[in-house]
Amino acid sequence: MCIFCDIIDHKIPSSVVYEDEKVLAILDISQVTRGHTLVMPKKHVRNIIEADEESVLACVSAAKKLAGQIVTNCKASGVNVLTNCGESAGQSVDHLHFHIIPRYDENDCVDIKFNESPKQDLDEVLKTIKG
Ligand code: 5GP
Ligand code: ZN
Repeated sequence: MCIFCDIIDHKIPSSVVYEDEKVLAILDISQVTRGHTLVMPKKHVRNIIEADEESVLACVSAAKKLAGQIVTNCKASGVNVLTNCGESAGQSVDHLHFHIIPRYDENDCVDIKFNESPKQDLDEVLKTIKG
């Protein structure tokens, strides 16, 4: 059972922002900021790593257009577009989705920041990533 598949199949109601053959965009029920939207492929794929390229491209293309539309019409000053992949990254629904989070000011209930962290040897990191 997947809650987003149920939304896509109209078994669960949602506020549809955009829909086409491959993609559904809905208002996030939590509205972390006003206009917070989720863009998801209609095909069930768990996350960005497991997804086929077509599903990802369809979502990113829709997210690009919607981000601009939402920023303009909600009179936001910026936007975060992100996808969480895996529990450690904060993914709570295992159906690929991109958050579009319009940003207003520093008091808008979102705090995405990189804390100071231990220095890394970049050559070693590069070697690890390249395998
Ligand atoms: P994640 O934590 O997986 O990156 O994001 C899942 C998002 O889905 C959360 O922001 C949560 O508010 C939203 N969500 C969960 N259930 C529902 C639902 O039934 N309807 C809508 N519109 N959003 C939901
Ligand atoms: Zn699903």
